[in-house]
Amino acid sequence: MADEIAELRHAIHREPEIGLDLPKTQAKVLAALAGLPLEITTGRSLSSVTAVLRGGSAHSRAEGPVVLLRGDMDALPVTEETHLPYASAVPGAMHACGHDAHTAMLAGAARLLSARQAELPGTVIFMFQPGEEGCAGARRMIEEGVLDAAGERPVAAYALHVSSQRLPCGMFSTRPGAMLAAADQITVTVHGRGGHASTPHRAADPIPVACEMVTALQTLVTRKFDVFDPVVITVGSFHAGTTDNVIPDRARFLATARSFSQESRSALAELVPRLIGDIARGHGLTAEAVYSAEYPVTVNDAAEAAFAAETIATVFGPERGEQAEFPITGAEDFSFVLEQVPGAFVMLGACPPDDDPLTAPTNHSAQATFDDTALADGTALYAELALRRLARVIPP
Ligand SMILES: [Zn+2]
Repeated sequence: MADEIAELRHAIHREPEIGLDLPKTQAKVLAALAGLPLEITTGRSLSSVTAVLRGGSAHSRAEGPVVLLRGDMDALPVTEETHLPYASAVPGAMHACGHDAHTAMLAGAARLLSARQAELPGTVIFMFQPGEEGCAGARRMIEEGVLDAAGERPVAAYALHVSSQRLPCGMFSTRPGAMLAAADQITVTVHGRGGHASTPHRAADPIPVACEMVTALQTLVTRKFDVFDPVVITVGSFHAGTTDNVIPDRARFLATARSFSQESRSALAELVPRLIGDIARGHGLTAEAVYSAEYPVTVNDAAEAAFAAETIATVFGPERGEQAEFPITGAEDFSFVLEQVPGAFVMLGACPPDDDPLTAPTNHSAQATFDDTALADGTALYAELALRRLARVIPP
């Protein structure tokens, strides 16, 4: 099946779609699943595909538990620079995070498990999800009932994610506890009073005050948070003014805040707006700081992470899996699934074997490449996780 999985991946890669509405990608998934013994529903507010495979024979359906497998489907607003034969044909859109691989592998796993329907001691939900990149597509699918698609809640949920660097091709990586960070957005507007740049004392200049906030946020990170419960704040956008001799009325900046515990996340939501407001007040200005919660911490259940590691070692050999020493400061909306269902998020190295994983372009880069040789193993792991997890609850 490896060639067919790669073919599907290339077709999705050539025609990337961004966000919650991915009609062409959805059509490719539906075509790949056609003819399989699946109960298929599509999303209302997003172009998701939920497929349910009930084990057992047509005469006696298995009474066993439910396991959920998730693959995300969306691309990024990046113009591809890889020159691969199957490179994106859409300027400004690219599967730079490898979600095309996840979609193809999950469709492959649906075929593998469908072929073993009779011996499957339970039910598998395949969650094909749009809008992972900032649109919280997973939360929408939960609101539309993906976790109840089989009639009862899954006992476990798993997601795979390919990486174009760090991990050698074919190497799996996971860990118990925090796997990825929580990501929140901070939007700050500093209100001053514009005027002539030569007489700042007659105006209320928002720019130096906003600059002070940018550096004070870094001090906040180092003075208010435990170094062993890390926090990252990065100001990624800063806008004020139009020219050199005019003091503007306002300054605006956007920051992302990453954290790994509820304690730190709650503290950020409280301390950041207070700091911004107090700095503005100290200078006789006002400011608004909006702290918006985006994605929670992706927390792997310890038992499910151990089960995933054990499955990797059994199926591929112990040398093919590592326990990640640290969580990743990226974020994932699979976290919304893991808030309700115990499970594990597993990384899979897909760096081209001839490239050095330490220097290869990262996910989200216009040059990121993900090697097809990882696809068969990712497909097999999806299928093995479901099969073995169902069998573990009710032995055949
Ligand atoms: Zn991703």
